[in-house]
Amino acid sequence: MTAPTAATRLFALLGDPVSHSLSPKFQNAAIRALGLDAAFVALRCSADDAPGLIRGIARAGGGGNVTVPHKALAAATVERPSQAVLRTGACNTYWLEDGAVHGDNTDVAGVLQAVHVLLGRPPAGARVLLVGAGGAASAAVCALADAGVERIVIANRTVERARALAERFRVPGVRIDVAGAVDALAGERFDLAINSTSLGLKPADPLPLDPDAPGPEIGAALDLVYSPNETRWVHALRARGLSAADGKEMLIGQGAAAFRRWWKMEPPLDVMRAALAE
Ligand code: NAP
Repeated sequence: MTAPTAATRLFALLGDPVSHSLSPKFQNAAIRALGLDAAFVALRCSADDAPGLIRGIARAGGGGNVTVPHKALAAATVERPSQAVLRTGACNTYWLEDGAVHGDNTDVAGVLQAVHVLLGRPPAGARVLLVGAGGAASAAVCALADAGVERIVIANRTVERARALAERFRVPGVRIDVAGAVDALAGERFDLAINSTSLGLKPADPLPLDPDAPGPEIGAALDLVYSPNETRWVHALRARGLSAADGKEMLIGQGAAAFRRWWKMEPPLDVMRAALAE
């Protein structure tokens, strides 16, 4: 990044906490690679301050991302929410366009990109087991239902939350079922299992789906949690010969989709991936 000028566009990730975020690393690498006059920063902010920052930064010619715990607040703040924001109730990207503050939930595009890269094809027709029913799960169900998967089973510790998610995304042609625990699905077969729980963030966490415990048979696995050297779940599944990936490609995918909204140009994906791998 060259030194900021009076014309530098500011992009800010808003959330709490944000100091761990890898978005500044790969967004600034993309900005540098394309010679853009911009800077991407991460700002820890409260729920009281987030709406003002979103409006102010966008109206000053910039934009940015929003992360936990402000995604629902951002959805209520932006003036032009995308279909993905309206359907998931979450906004992770904001920018100014035609004089209005726009918002999108690019986690939807991000999870689809990660699934596509893992399977080597779009997931149309696939049977998917989704573990978890929070915000990341909502983006996943939105993406998978639109992509025309055959069936999604949402398994979550709090089964009522899984039911609410299934109800929210009822679309013709896609069967969505719920389960409280994955062992109840023994004997079933899924093309893809996705972990959208926060299990894997802490070293002592149990695996979201233990390959040695009774449960369904799976063809491939995507962990939305990510770690520099992949997650324990990814290692455990690969050791059994399964194709598995962690959430880094989703992170790149959501960032790339956000970049397209801000800059109206294709992001340098290879540069972003290399920056993340550093
Ligand atoms: P969230 O809305 O708080 O949802 C958390 C989910 O994890 C819920 O389904 C919750 O179940 C489940 N959970 C938490 N602790 C559990 C435990 N001990 N046992 C079983 N289930 C447990 O969080 P989120 O926003 O969906 O994010 C979830 C994870 O996705 C994050 O940790 C993050 O690593 C990852 N993520 C990755 C990306 C990416 O770009 N790769 C983007 C977004 C999120 P209950 O409903 O029963 O509480």
